Amino acid sequence: MGKTTIKQINVPFLDPKTIADEADKFVTAYHPSLKPPIPIEEIAEFQLDIKVYPSGDLYPQHGIEGFINSNFNVLTIDQKIYEEKANRSRRRSTFAHEVAHIILHRDIFEGHDFNSKDEYLEFVDAIGERNIRLIEQQAYIFAGHVLVPSNLLDEQLGDAIKKAGGLSNMSLQDLTFIMEELKRSFQVSGEFLRHRITHQHPEVLKAAEKLYK
Ligand SMILES: [Zn+2]
Repeated sequence: MGKTTIKQINVPFLDPKTIADEADKFVTAYHPSLKPPIPIEEIAEFQLDIKVYPSGDLYPQHGIEGFINSNFNVLTIDQKIYEEKANRSRRRSTFAHEVAHIILHRDIFEGHDFNSKDEYLEFVDAIGERNIRLIEQQAYIFAGHVLVPSNLLDEQLGDAIKKAGGLSNMSLQDLTFIMEELKRSFQVSGEFLRHRITHQHPEVLKAAEKLYK
């Protein structure tokens, strides 16, 4: 197919609570044991039948970690992110992000026709900056809640803080330990985890800030 047709669309605003609920529904449906880490790559490949296509120049040349085609059956991912062991958490967040588009943005993607990188770039161009910003934000929130589900975060963070003697008794060492534990449990990067905690448990971040002073 040639050029993507330009359609004037306005991506609807979705409030974060709605997105979180969708993510919870998704995890419950595809990983009912809810045991972390959420196996997002296996869910994508074996339950959603998505083929993975590593591409060498995606990130270095375009700053794109991955994209999914408009038929939702091929996930193109930057080769280094896909293959390097040290990139595991980045790979997982890329998968979760692309799956988010399937759940949240089906109509928008299906309204266009793209498979290759060039066609994807045309799609991005065609739907415009405002729309892209919105769908990317929404996918980011969804991915956060898929890899670090709300209930699990409440539970694990709550337990860990209790073990440390409560938020007001927590030392810097306790905090470092807790973050490492949760990163390992959810298999996400420190940045990804901090982002989730900032939104769901700002009181922990506030307590942490005091420790750094
Ligand atoms: Zn995206």
